[in-house]
Amino acid sequence: MTEPHPTIRPQPGILEIALYQGGESRPAGHAEVLKLSSNENPLGPSPKAIAAFRAAAGSLHLYPSSDHAALRAAIGAVHGLDPARIVCGSGSDEIISFLTQAYAGPGLEVVHTEHGFGMYRISALAAGATPIEVRERERRTDVDAILAAATERTALVFVANPNNPTGTMIAAAEIERLAAGLPARTLLVLDAAYAECVEGFDGHAGLVAERDNVVMTRTFSKIHGLGGLRVGWSYGPPHVIDALNRVRGPFNLSTAQLAAAEAAVRDGDYTARCRAENVRNRQNLAAGLAAVGVASDPSEANFVLARFRDRAEAEGCDRALREAGIIVRKVAGYKLPQALRITVGDAAACERVAAAVGAFMRVRA
Ligand code: PMP
Repeated sequence: MTEPHPTIRPQPGILEIALYQGGESRPAGHAEVLKLSSNENPLGPSPKAIAAFRAAAGSLHLYPSSDHAALRAAIGAVHGLDPARIVCGSGSDEIISFLTQAYAGPGLEVVHTEHGFGMYRISALAAGATPIEVRERERRTDVDAILAAATERTALVFVANPNNPTGTMIAAAEIERLAAGLPARTLLVLDAAYAECVEGFDGHAGLVAERDNVVMTRTFSKIHGLGGLRVGWSYGPPHVIDALNRVRGPFNLSTAQLAAAEAAVRDGDYTARCRAENVRNRQNLAAGLAAVGVASDPSEANFVLARFRDRAEAEGCDRALREAGIIVRKVAGYKLPQALRITVGDAAACERVAAAVGAFMRVRA
């Protein structure tokens, strides 16, 4: 614990932030580990993205594009969106931070759900705002609970659909009901980090196009396999895009980030292959877990939330997996102490983790 300085203090809220815990990558004593803790794409990025990244090495002395025009044009062309309504950031984490910086602040509230992604609370506190946690219903976003919590002080509502770490998704009609029912000053942020995992899903871009109180966030970290590159984007109404561009640093993305992301989004065949692999392996993983008595909700993302009898059993399984060289994600910090979030790896990884969970459950029985 670092002691606070007697006179030089950060803004109110900053010291309430609990540091974000990323997925671990190395348990002690294992040279070769299977990392299934950070929802990374086991196939990695498109070879075209890697080639574009390497090619960018030749121009590192030059400042990058500050308007991201080529990347926004590519995203617009692939997703059928107006590039003028897109803003790119260093991961969708940065977009979340821009949104809280631009819209939240002291005296204002930021609503997120019980098992919602941790950066909503962190970014709200960093902006001096008050995070408000709303319960979910059986690990699903509950629109009525959010509407009941939203007040004239609510600046932002964050909803991830599909959600992390639950993997569950609610119907588009429910999201529409939420957008229509919020107070006039509230901006709804639809975090569609896992949208590409769902065949035919636009991440609610259609709803954004229809309304002036909804913005969508997306990432290259998941299906595009570029978590290490740090690129995300948002699509929103012109008034929101204008605000985000004002708080965004002019060179927030490097030439290599821009080039690799552009190549990745344009490689639709590769994206489709990754989506199909994920669906197949996710089904096998969920079935493998069910076969050894471990339940999970239907997941629409690239991970499965494995539910155990209680916290002790989940922690015991986590220890057993570590001993077998497999790292998954404990989610007690997301109010799910009895669960472990397991990223959908390749076919062999899914078999290996299901077998290791099975071995643990047999010893427990
Ligand atoms: N939103 C959700 C729901 C996520 O799960 C993640 C990644 N853990 C992010 C946003 C942030 O992703 P990135 O900053 O890598 O784009």
